Amino acid sequence: MKFLVCGGAGYIGSHMVRYLLRQGHEVVVYDDLSTGHRESVPAEGLVIGDIGDGTALGQLFAQHRFDAVMHFCALSLVGESVSKPYLYYTNNVARTLVLLEAMRTAGVDRLVFSSTAAVFGNPQTLLITEEHPTTPINPYGQSKLMVEKILSDAANAYGLRSVALRYFNAAGADPSGEIGEAHSPETHLIPNVLRSLLGQGPELKVFGSDYATRDGTCVRDYVHVNDLASAHLKAVEFMLDHEGAHIFNLGNGEGFSVREVIAAAERVTGQEVSYDMVARRPGDPPTLVASGQRARELLGWQPEFSRLDDILASAWDWHTKPAY
Ligand code: UDP
Repeated sequence: MKFLVCGGAGYIGSHMVRYLLRQGHEVVVYDDLSTGHRESVPAEGLVIGDIGDGTALGQLFAQHRFDAVMHFCALSLVGESVSKPYLYYTNNVARTLVLLEAMRTAGVDRLVFSSTAAVFGNPQTLLITEEHPTTPINPYGQSKLMVEKILSDAANAYGLRSVALRYFNAAGADPSGEIGEAHSPETHLIPNVLRSLLGQGPELKVFGSDYATRDGTCVRDYVHVNDLASAHLKAVEFMLDHEGAHIFNLGNGEGFSVREVIAAAERVTGQEVSYDMVARRPGDPPTLVASGQRARELLGWQPEFSRLDDILASAWDWHTKPAY
């Protein structure tokens, strides 16, 4: 198949591109390189552009016959979304509408959309299923939920087929060691732990030790980025014989606290992690753990990296010799 991967130079997008190429598919990457890395994708497949540019998208759709679009373009910093909500709604919602309209005009009717566990807000159950109420507590989560709702309307009105994948905590790096997680600023736990060990970042801060969890620190469900990629391809296969707008949670179904992640990093690297225990970070729910049951049953999704130590080992491999 031939795919348009919007945001394909970003962390998850670049792993997706590599996964598709390995499986023998054709890929065009469309990315404005605002946060992505040119080095993370093959030069010949890269088109630099903005999903808010309908004219450029129209030209791209005229040049290629895509079987599906994967849409990874988004701003995703929770704190920034609180201070700059217009930026988030413009970027994550309004620009997505331009992409959707360009797809409709071109007759491309399959989309995989990157959604997030942030649509749930403060969870009411330990294991979060797709039916869990969606009450986001920040503009980032709101913006993703808005797009989920637009996709549902688009299925009814225009017959757009879509799968929204709600990622829990994407982590790890491709085992080739050639691509990995490199955000600026880096806000995520695992890269911050590893960078602090390598002296590449500031000393690690742990945000909050007074949560109602087993050790007082926040619990998250870490999913390997290549397992997220495999779910996207399964989602496209699912859309070949399913109409409508569908939603799946992507997680391993097992939560690890911040302290447990630090302990795993110490096991994997053989080094002791020193950190400052500081106040809670605003907007962090105590626990976010997915039920990945629906994705397993309906998509046939089978994560390969379900052990935290393996996820960390792949991330460590990247961080010790990052290419960008
Ligand atoms: N966290 C931390 N120190 C950091 C980064 C994150 O203690 O430098 C905590 C954060 O408060 C949360 C968990 O680690 O409880 C995972 O945070 P991350 O930003 O990686 O992902 P999120 O769950 O916010 O999407």
